[in-house]
Amino acid sequence: MASSVQNNRVSPPGYCVCCRVCNMWCWRAFKWLPVLLIVSIVTWSYYAYVYQLCISTIESTVQECVYLVLYHILLIMFAWSYWRTIFAEIKQIPEKYKLPEVELEKLLSAESEDAQRTILENFAKDLPIVTRTMSGSVRYCNRCVLVKPDRAHHCSICARCVLKMDHHCPWVNNCVCFHNYKFFMLFLGYALIYCLFIMATCLPYFIRFWKGDFGTAASTGRYHIVFAFFVSLMFAISLGSLFGYHCYLVANNRTTLDMLINYRRLSSPTGQILNKMLKTLVNEAFRAPMFRSGADKNGFSIGAFNNFKEVFGNSPNLWLVPVFTSFGDGIVYPTPRDDEESESLLSSERWDRWGERARPFDERESSSFDEL
Ligand SMILES: [Zn+2]
Ligand SMILES: [Zn+2]
Repeated sequence: MASSVQNNRVSPPGYCVCCRVCNMWCWRAFKWLPVLLIVSIVTWSYYAYVYQLCISTIESTVQECVYLVLYHILLIMFAWSYWRTIFAEIKQIPEKYKLPEVELEKLLSAESEDAQRTILENFAKDLPIVTRTMSGSVRYCNRCVLVKPDRAHHCSICARCVLKMDHHCPWVNNCVCFHNYKFFMLFLGYALIYCLFIMATCLPYFIRFWKGDFGTAASTGRYHIVFAFFVSLMFAISLGSLFGYHCYLVANNRTTLDMLINYRRLSSPTGQILNKMLKTLVNEAFRAPMFRSGADKNGFSIGAFNNFKEVFGNSPNLWLVPVFTSFGDGIVYPTPRDDEESESLLSSERWDRWGERARPFDERESSSFDEL
């Protein structure tokens, strides 16, 4: 039987339990290496900036105090956002999306793909989903044995489906998704400001040392300051481009996975290589969200400011603070679509689930939503 649904239930391992446990722990430890590298660089930058620049080199006490206060505020906000991105609780997909054993047996014994599609369609008829696969059937995960909620994808590194998955980030050893996207944005933003601040305040001393005026700076201290300038410049360039890209995604209510379709469409060798590399990172079809009426990369966009508030919440006081203020539950999302087909899928349950927190979109600021 040619089948799109496969049986992925766990089969007995081919090697002993001890090796399996050992491999698992080695893999877990290995995944923390990039985080350890970031923490080491930040710890060294603390020593270079606080001790070598502020305490040992700067002669003015006022300047030293101002630099130290600003530096520590930035460091705390950066570390707080980073911590929340790493340790955010990535919640499981609700039980009602998981196929019960009876349904799974039916699915696996179905005679054709059409029969499987019908079984999934029947199972999902009461679920609030509006997106489909490229072939128009319900999105189903073979590994987790569940119907995927809108914007959820399977992460092969976390080995599970993740709500509004953006990408798996090795630098935070976590999936960037609905539950930590705001923290991730703040982490990028504060890390960028942190680097720019170090660059700007080290620059006059960097120029002085370059000209041979060493002042009170010790010889090892000079190297730390010059190195801190170059390292922060290097990180500022990469963080700046990544932060700019994610600002674009937030403004358009897209995720990195939504954008990857562009690589797939590239017929050039570079595009094909990129696609192959990305496919190994995320085991998922790269495409714009597919609705019943076709693919639409702006299918979840409800206007730039509403898109921003969907991630950062409704309270300006908390926009820059790494506490969770995103709208919704990660399962259902408002869409600007109002055609007949999607209307039936945008059931009242969809809005009920948003509850109180959905109000900025459908009541308090109904004028902005009506414009769509
Ligand atoms: Zn999955
Ligand atoms: Zn992941």
